[in-house]
Amino acid sequence: MLLRHTPPGLSERNALTINPAKTCQPIGAMYAALGIHNCLPHSHGSQGCCAYHRSSLTRHYNDPIMASTSSFSEGSSVFGGQANLLEAFNNIFTLYNPDIVAVNTTCLSEVIGDDMVQIIKKAYEEKKIPEGKIVIHANTPSFTGSHVTGYANMAAAMVKYFAKKTGRKNGRITLIPSFLEPSDMTEIKSIAAEMDVPYIMYPDTSDVVNGPLDGKFRMYPKGGCKKEWIEASGDSDYAIAIGLYGAQAAAKLLDTQCKVPFKIVDIPLGITATDAFVDTLRKAAGVSVPESLRVERGQLVDVLCDMCQYTYGKKVSLMGDPDILISMAQFCKDAGMEVLHVLTGTPSGKFRFEDRIREICGEKVTVRSGLQCDMFMFQQLVMADKPDLIVGNTYCKYMCRDMDIPLLRMGFPIYDRIGQSYVPMTGYRGSLQLLLKILNILMDRLDRDAPEENFELIM
Ligand code: SF4
Repeated sequence: MLLRHTPPGLSERNALTINPAKTCQPIGAMYAALGIHNCLPHSHGSQGCCAYHRSSLTRHYNDPIMASTSSFSEGSSVFGGQANLLEAFNNIFTLYNPDIVAVNTTCLSEVIGDDMVQIIKKAYEEKKIPEGKIVIHANTPSFTGSHVTGYANMAAAMVKYFAKKTGRKNGRITLIPSFLEPSDMTEIKSIAAEMDVPYIMYPDTSDVVNGPLDGKFRMYPKGGCKKEWIEASGDSDYAIAIGLYGAQAAAKLLDTQCKVPFKIVDIPLGITATDAFVDTLRKAAGVSVPESLRVERGQLVDVLCDMCQYTYGKKVSLMGDPDILISMAQFCKDAGMEVLHVLTGTPSGKFRFEDRIREICGEKVTVRSGLQCDMFMFQQLVMADKPDLIVGNTYCKYMCRDMDIPLLRMGFPIYDRIGQSYVPMTGYRGSLQLLLKILNILMDRLDRDAPEENFELIM
């Protein structure tokens, strides 16, 4: 079994990554681009990159993911990919007719040094891009950052290319979510709607990667934020970046470009983060919190209190994406759990992920972030101090099986279970679903391990 031979003890490394705890930047950029209506993501690199990015997203969402590629050959690797991209624009607009093409670069085109601004300008000049059609781009070299960085870069590109300030405020609040499931994007929109907040949200992949099966093929599903709304975000009253790592870059740029003030909040996962999100929305829009949300919150508090004997003192180890980890660590603490380890392959950068996690979990938590913080390191940490529960993506299943630790699948990618696209983990409703999952896993384990005399019908 993979990872069975991982030696105990922590092997500190500077240059080697073993089984990364992240995926590559273009995957995040491609996912964000799917959150624009009538947009085709385009990967400027070799076919293999695009095939990997598409298959990762297809496996996670169980839906076909549309994207095109510049299809680099040996020639483009030497002379650059301009000719391929110009030809690609010709083909894309003739064959697939999107309104927008969102180009992400790859390792290869970045190493060659293709100047995307110049190539796109040339494409407009040579009429490779038809009248009324738009091409945007984000630089997403995968030798730095992670899929979260790529998502953040493409979200910022949406602001850069579309957001316009006309000088007339439109009374809307712009919501910029981090790399979240489409079900979570729906939940965030539904909280805003319940609170009667006029909003604009992008990227918005709901109804794109989790659309219904109705017998008709749609190259561009009905979801995704329309270009006109992204433009209008430049006139919005306020912006909320939902997640520091995935959303801050876009919100900051919206402020710089269009003077829209913003606040960064944690992903509304768990009671503390959802309270903070709802409160920020309430203040920004000058509305009050409706009774329906108070009821949902009360139900979450009720289950947290009723079942605290099953979560209190339970040890948990978390791996995944930083924005989700921050909120999840807080939720585990709120449920009385002890967070042992928090690990992400996304580099912390200047955002001080480690400090934030220590603020939430206390000084005893082991927290690691960056390229060498991989599944190998996570397993070594878990071997040294075994938790009652691991929370992480599908890749954790190997170590969980080897060490007989239950796994709550969360984050990206999840290849071996279904439901994340449809059932949210955010908002009070989603947090309740999440809490029930945690409880069911812990209670199943109690039943499995209970001696005959303690095997109870009523728990
Ligand atoms: S890491 Fe680079 S070369 Fe590999 S699939 Fe991602 S973009 Fe392509």
